[in-house]
Amino acid sequence: PAAAPAARLSTRPTSGSQPARPHSSHKGSYGDVVILGGEGLGHRGLSMTGAAWLAALTALHAGAGRVMLALLDAEHRTDQAISPWPEIMLRQPQAQDWHSATVVCGCGGGQAIEPWLPTVLQQAPRLVLDADALNAISQSASLAKLLCSRATRQQSAILTPHPLEAARLLKTDTQSVQADRLRAASALAQQFQCTALLKGSGTVIASPASTPWINSSGNALLARGGTGDVLAGLTGAIWATGCTAEQAAVQAAFRHGQLADEWPAHIPFSASVLAMHLG
Ligand code: AMP
Ligand code: MG
Repeated sequence: PAAAPAARLSTRPTSGSQPARPHSSHKGSYGDVVILGGEGLGHRGLSMTGAAWLAALTALHAGAGRVMLALLDAEHRTDQAISPWPEIMLRQPQAQDWHSATVVCGCGGGQAIEPWLPTVLQQAPRLVLDADALNAISQSASLAKLLCSRATRQQSAILTPHPLEAARLLKTDTQSVQADRLRAASALAQQFQCTALLKGSGTVIASPASTPWINSSGNALLARGGTGDVLAGLTGAIWATGCTAEQAAVQAAFRHGQLADEWPAHIPFSASVLAMHLG
């Protein structure tokens, strides 16, 4: 038999960037996206509130039915007055029900994310793990075990590491990840029994027992702070509509890069402006 292809190249979806919305649909048809992240001081003591806001803003503009933002804020502020976007519902993490939503976890939060990981790893049916969540998992064997055990409970996860985050998870270095990105993404998918989306020029998406994808869109306009948080929010919004983890990851990476490829020269590019051009 012919050898299986090493990878598939993702291309523009034939149905357009967003499927048409049936006339009888309602907000429940497009799912809830909960963003858990934010304030807690991240690496080098930087406040990362913006990361969670970017993911939430993206989910909103990408068409999620409802967007909740659970900020890991030491002062537990859920006063809607602090929100520049009234559509985004602020929640205390303690008050959130994780059982029915698509959860995007780790866009900011620093070490404050760690105590929440056992809960979301066990309860969230669809879980996108980024940045600070991935760093916490790479430092804890018990969290890694909880992540692996999701597959046996029919709960999937999408990991969205950049090369350094992937290296930490694989206990290797960035050069080794970059030297064979297909292998690194496949190793993550295999090790954690989930979909792994390895970011960077030529994003790779790998799932267990499936030929990996190489994303064909995107350019170095995306090489700036905040674009990864936009990708995490977009992945959550697409997944919440009811597709598979692999489809959500492939479609989100493509759409994210496509927007950068078609970016009008007269509009200055930034992550928040990118988020507002989705949909
Ligand atoms: P992060 O490293 O988490 O901020 O995420 C950066 C985002 O921008 C990811 O989606 C990357 O795939 C994308 N990105 C960064 N640099 C490039 C590049 N040179 N070409 C294409 N995509 C890129
Ligand atoms: Mg990032």
